[in-house]
Amino acid sequence: MPRKNFKTNTESSPKERKKIVARKKACRFCVDKDLAIDYKLVKHLTPFLTERGKIVARRMTGNCIYHQKRIVESVKRARHLALLPYTIAHSVTL
Ligand SMILES: [Zn+2]
Repeated sequence: MPRKNFKTNTESSPKERKKIVARKKACRFCVDKDLAIDYKLVKHLTPFLTERGKIVARRMTGNCIYHQKRIVESVKRARHLALLPYTIAHSVTL
């Protein structure tokens, strides 16, 4: 039996749908291959930390899982070497 009330394609054309769909954030390390993740390069890690020193989630930064894991590893190493603070209470500016 043929369906009578199926939606036609004219209601939501591909062009219209594109407007609604949010653009997926690209991983900046995948885009720029020269950008290195290293515990010694603190200035590359600080964009992925909050004001209080927490590591920003992947869903916020748009990093891929491969690079997010390397950032987390590097941040933890940098914290251990006191290059980055664990929390705001540990920062030098008190
Ligand atoms: Zn990546």
